[in-house]
Amino acid sequence: MSHSPNLRIPGPTTLPESVRAAGSRQMVNHRGPEFKALLGRVTAGLQRGFRTRNDVILLTASGTGALEAVVVNFLSPGDPVLAVSIGEFGERFTTIATTFGVDVTRYATEPGRAADPAVVAERLRSMAAAGAPARAVLVTHNETSTGVTNPLAAIATAIRQESPEALILVDGISGLGALPFETDEWDLDVVATGSQKSWMSPPGVAMVSVSERAWTASETARSPRFYFDLRAARRSARSGETPFTPAVGVCFALDAALELIEAEGYEAIHARHAAVGAATRAGLQAMGFRLFADPAHASDTVTSALLPDGVDWTAFGGELRRRGLVIAGAQGTLAGKVFRVGHLGDVQVEDILRALETIEAGALALGIPVTRGVAVEAARVAAAAVSGRRLAMSGSRS
Ligand SMILES: *Cc1c(COP(=O)(O)O)cnc(C)c1O
Repeated sequence: MSHSPNLRIPGPTTLPESVRAAGSRQMVNHRGPEFKALLGRVTAGLQRGFRTRNDVILLTASGTGALEAVVVNFLSPGDPVLAVSIGEFGERFTTIATTFGVDVTRYATEPGRAADPAVVAERLRSMAAAGAPARAVLVTHNETSTGVTNPLAAIATAIRQESPEALILVDGISGLGALPFETDEWDLDVVATGSQKSWMSPPGVAMVSVSERAWTASETARSPRFYFDLRAARRSARSGETPFTPAVGVCFALDAALELIEAEGYEAIHARHAAVGAATRAGLQAMGFRLFADPAHASDTVTSALLPDGVDWTAFGGELRRRGLVIAGAQGTLAGKVFRVGHLGDVQVEDILRALETIEAGALALGIPVTRGVAVEAARVAAAAVSGRRLAMSGSRS
């Protein structure tokens, strides 16, 4: 699908036509039968997307609201918690926990690197040896600030071996719905995501899955909570409602988006993201940009690359914007050093090829010495190779 301008940031993402139309529908009574049916449908769809039988709660909030909900519902001041942080969003989750008085032990990697499951296990061992076994582990699935996907299945296995009772609390905001993800199989207690990332919907609704182990913990957790009290949300959800007025329009949009997602199927969606990820990385590299993320853990929803020496981000981003392409800069310590291309949600390889063409033209206009005329072909080849591999894999299984 073609969009103008080409919005290639890691959320909000462009909306398919049917999602936009759904979002502009007339309001309904949020305590009436239409909304009740909608909430049931969306919740069931999300459970399939999360691959879980756990409750999925909808919150009217951005993703950060969901992270705060995770902290206040399942943790108490003074709780020893391991925070696995591989970038800005890991830092944000950590900061929310310390804000509420949680006793955080940080395991932070160098930006651009994924977490090592063996180190997670080792940190949990030393916390236990010091007499403060971790009550929970905070971990990011896909670190949007650096374009790195953590090996979450292996990390969860390490946590379960080392600290079977610890709650696994996951920021899944920019990966869920685009990347392979198994809430129940990986035994993840709480998983948060947001409508504006891979779910092809406008911002405004955050979604959180909660395991029975986590619900039990919520009964004794002592952090103050009111708007984000998930127990109230669970009670209301049983009668098809939310405790407070929900973002009805965003829910309409999310319902339409889930319909598109299920029509395409998660396997095809994962393959499409693998293809656009490979295309983006190959195209940028062929032009001469240096990729920032560890290639072994490069994300298929967002790609980070280094700005060449002497190139000013504001000038580069501005030049691309004038040419109809919107990409993202970086946050925190990476600001001015790294740029990011989002490729999640409603995105096809064609959109990436167009973005690469614009990046090439914009870079040349600014006198950045990129290699001319090779990016699009490299991207096409990389995308085809991924699709070919996927086909071969599915062929060998049947
Ligand atoms: C976008 C994002 C967030 C923050 O979500 P908001 O909706 O901006 O509050 C948190 N974590 C990750 C990994 C994200 O990609």
